[in-house]
Amino acid sequence: MPSPIDVLIVGAGLSGLVAARRLLAEGLTVRVLEARERVGGRMVSATTADGSVVDLGGQWGGASHHRFEALLKELGIGRFPSHYGGKGVFHWRGRRLEAPLAHHFADSLLFFEPQALDLPPAELTATSALQRAFAALVAQVDPRQPWRTPDAERLDRLTVAQWAAQHTNLPLAQLPLDWLCRLGGSGGFEPWEASILHLAWTQAVAPQAETPEAWLVRGGAGAVAQRLAAELAAQAGASLQLGRAVHTIAQDHQGVSVVERTGQTHRARAAIVAVPPPQRLAIQFDPPLPPAHRALLQRSPMGAMTKILASYARPFWRDRGLNGLGIGDRPALELTADSGPPEGQPALIASFLAGERALSLGALPAPQRRQLILDDLAAYWGPEAAEPLDLVEQDWNAEPFSGGAFTSFLTPGTWTSHARLAANPQGGPAPADHGRVLWAGTEVSPRWPGYFEGAIEAGERAASGIGATLTAKPPP
Ligand SMILES: Cc1cc2nc3c(=O)[nH]c(=O)nc-3n(C[C@H](O)[C@H](O)[C@H](O)COP(=O)(O)OP(=O)(O)OC[C@H]3O[C@@H](n4cnc5c(N)ncnc54)[C@H](O)[C@@H]3O)c2cc1C
Repeated sequence: MPSPIDVLIVGAGLSGLVAARRLLAEGLTVRVLEARERVGGRMVSATTADGSVVDLGGQWGGASHHRFEALLKELGIGRFPSHYGGKGVFHWRGRRLEAPLAHHFADSLLFFEPQALDLPPAELTATSALQRAFAALVAQVDPRQPWRTPDAERLDRLTVAQWAAQHTNLPLAQLPLDWLCRLGGSGGFEPWEASILHLAWTQAVAPQAETPEAWLVRGGAGAVAQRLAAELAAQAGASLQLGRAVHTIAQDHQGVSVVERTGQTHRARAAIVAVPPPQRLAIQFDPPLPPAHRALLQRSPMGAMTKILASYARPFWRDRGLNGLGIGDRPALELTADSGPPEGQPALIASFLAGERALSLGALPAPQRRQLILDDLAAYWGPEAAEPLDLVEQDWNAEPFSGGAFTSFLTPGTWTSHARLAANPQGGPAPADHGRVLWAGTEVSPRWPGYFEGAIEAGERAASGIGATLTAKPPP
């Protein structure tokens, strides 16, 4: 058995790496076990055939993502504003509408200036009425204890689709909420898969109105995880081991025994588990997790998401005064975004297959899916868009240690039952600590869960709470 250490961290995503960094700074010894043969989890870059660095996972930082911004500064990694100058393209019912973006998301139709879209006024009125009703609901949500929101049980048993249908049956009016479910940063689910309480909670704790897609990381966000891992490897008192899927975590009065799938056992005084909720379910705990915690995990599936990166010789859309933001009801792509730097090289468009589309199109033969994607890129940005230098697809549903993206969501009824029963005394999405085992990973953060910002917050919080855990009694 390897020599005992203070804290063992499961998962070398951003959250686990940040926790390790913080613990080392406090003079503790740490070991990070990572299931994959690489670090970063959902924060990972790749290089296309033409040499462009692209982010296969998360890419943006937000206007109020101060932890992420500070971390980049500490690591000496640069960033640049996302390109939003000029007009975007809204595709609706076979019509391609070029229009400027609104100044504030709250007044927009999915970022667009509604009055600039040539759409029936009555439908636009119904759209903004539904958005106002949703905003009023978001304002009522208790972000720490959503189950205390007025009328919480009813709202948690009503799906997003059902709630919207109570207000309007116009597809345009329903689009903003449908889109937030599938493509908002907390998304990857369909409007019939989660409750209106869940969607309102995501907007209370991670509001689209705070511009979470404000800036990008120079050289790709994946560099952040690489840099953190390199820093860790260079420090005494730390070790990072790849290809080590953790299978069991047992605890006694002296500490924890963490067993890999290979049978290799590690001994530590405490453990931090920094994996997505469904992956937590794949680990055996002894003593076992409380039933409410397990029930919560069983009702916390990952969203469905494939990210697509198209690289071009130049950002030809910018030459035409277009900004690359494409939103609409195309068969494949409901969102495209210019993901290149101000200087235009590399010229990149990121796009997404989300929710059911990710799974149904994911099941098609690759050439057929590629054609649908190229057709949609051309529908938004013209025929040149159908001839990229390279087109990279990253299917997150096929990744065994992620199981989907962007993040996990709660199925209807879960907030007011299992999540409430499993919650820690401070509330929020983090379940109670389990003796010498603490929870990290973006999903347990009370602010910006599902985002890089939440991953950093959760990693830092677990590390700063480790003191009492090092001597905690095992749970009954
Ligand atoms: C396509 C996509 C786009 C996104 N866009 C954005 C964005 O623009 N901005 C933003 O802020 N966020 C975005 N996100 C979300 C962001 O990437 C995540 O919130 C963040 O990276 C999560 O970090 P984490 O450390 O909590 O989890 P993860 O990155 O999932 O890390 C968990 C790690 O644990 C490992 N693991 C799992 N099980 C085990 C086990 N049994 N034993 C050992 N190791 C295990 C995994 O391999 C993984 O490395 C996006 C995500 C995706 C996939």
